[in-house]
Amino acid sequence: MADVDSSRIVFLGPPNSGKGTQAVRLAETLEIPPISTGEMLRQAVTDGSELGLRVEAVMNRGDLVSDELMAEVVRNRLARPDAEEGFLLDGYPRTLPQAATLDAILASRDVELHDVVLLDAPEEVLVARALGRGRKDDREAVVRERIRVYFEKTAPLVELYDERGLLRRVDGDHEMDRVERAILDSLEGGPT
Ligand code: ADP
Repeated sequence: MADVDSSRIVFLGPPNSGKGTQAVRLAETLEIPPISTGEMLRQAVTDGSELGLRVEAVMNRGDLVSDELMAEVVRNRLARPDAEEGFLLDGYPRTLPQAATLDAILASRDVELHDVVLLDAPEEVLVARALGRGRKDDREAVVRERIRVYFEKTAPLVELYDERGLLRRVDGDHEMDRVERAILDSLEGGPT
């Protein structure tokens, strides 16, 4: 590839694996923009924009926004100049059709993904982390729903990227600095 200095990275992992935090840290280290689709959608909801109004109910029940709508969101975001030299995508793709959309976007620009980081942790750790954050009441049902959706819709991407030799598995069940080092090592170490 001609673009040897760029980094195009995808972060995969279940809800509460810590990938949001790690994505921001890694993006800063690599000097590429962190692009979190969850953040973008939450901001749209806060702003009360048309997009926000369309996604709010879906997000609140722990479900996924449609692939069609997400394709539009991501296509527009990746077209911005700051993403030209690389990006760290956190939260996209989340389904097999979304992975195909990302392939198409990148192919249309003649560039490729470099790494897919999978940040993982046992389900009970994920649930405990989510509930430890505050409001208990009926939130556990939504938390478990989001984890269930992850295993059903997103986990198949692990195999897809593994087959392409892009997958870097990192254990997220450690303190944050240690996880950060493991992520950097996984990138430098090449395919695992
Ligand atoms: P997490 O806590 O798992 O990191 P995110 O912040 O990435 O969650 O996303 C929050 C919510 O936004 C998701 O539960 C989903 O409703 C919606 N969302 C974010 N990214 C996508 C996507 N790629 N496809 C569909 N829905 C998405």
